[in-house]
Amino acid sequence: MITPILTHFSQAGFTVTLDSKGRAYRALIRLLGDIPDLEFLREDHMIRFCTHAQIRKGAAYTLDELIAIAQPRAQMGRFLTQFHWLLDRQVFWRGYSLRCPVCDLESWVDLNMLAEHLICPGCRVAFQIPLKIDFAFKPNPLFAQTLPKVRPKAPQFIDGDERAPSACLSKNFWTAVKIF
Ligand SMILES: [Zn+2]
Repeated sequence: MITPILTHFSQAGFTVTLDSKGRAYRALIRLLGDIPDLEFLREDHMIRFCTHAQIRKGAAYTLDELIAIAQPRAQMGRFLTQFHWLLDRQVFWRGYSLRCPVCDLESWVDLNMLAEHLICPGCRVAFQIPLKIDFAFKPNPLFAQTLPKVRPKAPQFIDGDERAPSACLSKNFWTAVKIF
């Protein structure tokens, strides 16, 4: 939708450019997919999930920890389907959190980088991975830094929506969804 809008302004003699936030929103919406798919971000458990302070900072969590953050309760099956979809879209990345036995540094390793022996990014010593490790899921930084904004007192979630969630995503984001 953005191209016809820019063309319209251009034909009227205006030059329209996107600022850095606009470019980030556009890239995020392309990452997330077509607009109807974004509706699930309005559900309470997804709002808790997307506005979590540590997830916004890019922290990696196991699935059990993510469930504890989202608290989907009766929506558990729905949340798991939604999260699987986010992994498919590379909105979250699957990997492992590993602690170096030499320097105790915890670091995250992408699924595709796992090997029997890894080099610690801190002390640079090679160590063998443990027998058993859980997946640790990390947000795509574009998602983590662009989408989540906590607005605890916002009376409206989006134009015409009278629900009043305890936290909601940036109104600017939803404006961008309408435009892009
Ligand atoms: Zn180390």
